[in-house]
Amino acid sequence: MNWVRRFFNEMLEDIFVNMTNRLSVQLRLICIAAAGVAVLMTVLNITKMEYRLGMETGISAVFCFAIYAYTTRTKKYLAGSICMVLMLLVFFTLYLAGGLVEGFAALWFCFYPLICFFILEIRLAIIFSAAGLAVLIAFLWTPLQNVLPPVYTQNFMLRFPFLYVGHFVFALALNGFYVYTYSRLQELRRKFEILSNQDGLTRLSNRTYLEGYKRELLERGETFLWGMMLDVDFFKQYNDTFGHLAGDEVLKSVAGVITQSTEAETTVAVRYGGEEFLILLEKADKDKAVCLAETLRGKVRGLKIPHVAGGGYVSVSIGISVQRVGGEGDFQRLLKAADDALYRAKLNGRNCISF
Ligand code: GH3
Ligand code: MG
Ligand code: MG
Repeated sequence: MNWVRRFFNEMLEDIFVNMTNRLSVQLRLICIAAAGVAVLMTVLNITKMEYRLGMETGISAVFCFAIYAYTTRTKKYLAGSICMVLMLLVFFTLYLAGGLVEGFAALWFCFYPLICFFILEIRLAIIFSAAGLAVLIAFLWTPLQNVLPPVYTQNFMLRFPFLYVGHFVFALALNGFYVYTYSRLQELRRKFEILSNQDGLTRLSNRTYLEGYKRELLERGETFLWGMMLDVDFFKQYNDTFGHLAGDEVLKSVAGVITQSTEAETTVAVRYGGEEFLILLEKADKDKAVCLAETLRGKVRGLKIPHVAGGGYVSVSIGISVQRVGGEGDFQRLLKAADDALYRAKLNGRNCISF
């Protein structure tokens, strides 16, 4: 039973936690549910000696399994969903036209709109549900009713399409409610993801993001990685002189410079500590790394934020390191080396870079 729970948990997790492929997972769920019902009905029909209906439900079960296998293998979920609704339309029409078990089999038709809305985008769901209604009307309200076996009463034939429309309206409303809630949830999830990975003051990435990046980097295999540790010079003194609020503004300005200068895809910029920033570069060489560090240093100095130390303006010192990163240890060594280089930049008089 454990694997059954894990199996369904994984699907629900895909829909509501990872929030990917909602319709594809729902198609798989419908395949499983429909196959289950079809197998059950096949057994019931055979024991009740309704062999024709038993054969039809048996074949539909096989189709459900086939669509499940096809979509999980090819990932063509739209094609799978369309196959599913077409197959159901054919089988429900056969149940209706067959008039089997005193016409009871026709009632399955009412599930059609619900299933369409569950596995298709709203526009396609409306189109296929309307096709279902057209089939019902054609068989029950037009002279085509003469081909039906004499199991349906006049009242049934008159009223059944209305029951179907009721189900359709219910499915449409339920779907609207679900899609709205789901898209709001998706939006909140995106916001939450951004907030949990972002530093509140500077809007740069935070340490949580860095951990995720590191995990993903190590999964990718060995990478040649450049690291830069950037630290604001005499920042404690800045705070002491101008106050913490002014200090915060300096941090925002420095972060702005970093954001502007590191927009490349292969760059990660993190607020590493109070007034320390870490920049990681993939696919770079020494020239590129040194050039970026010089740009950052120059631009911060170029902001010309008055200071009582460091030659009159706020400045930063930057330590650069490089490392072939294949494991956790390498990553730590890269940061340690950048930190050591930063320490040397401080010793060399600040407002400079050290490699
Ligand atoms: P150095 O040039 O050697 O780096 O000297 P420093 O004064 O910059 O170095 P130190 O590490 O002693 O000081 C860092 C200061 O950064 C201390 C702390 O008050 C300040 N700080 C850390 N986080 C924040 C913050 O979020 N806002 C403000 N305003 N200040 C912060
Ligand atoms: Mg510091
Ligand atoms: Mg500092």
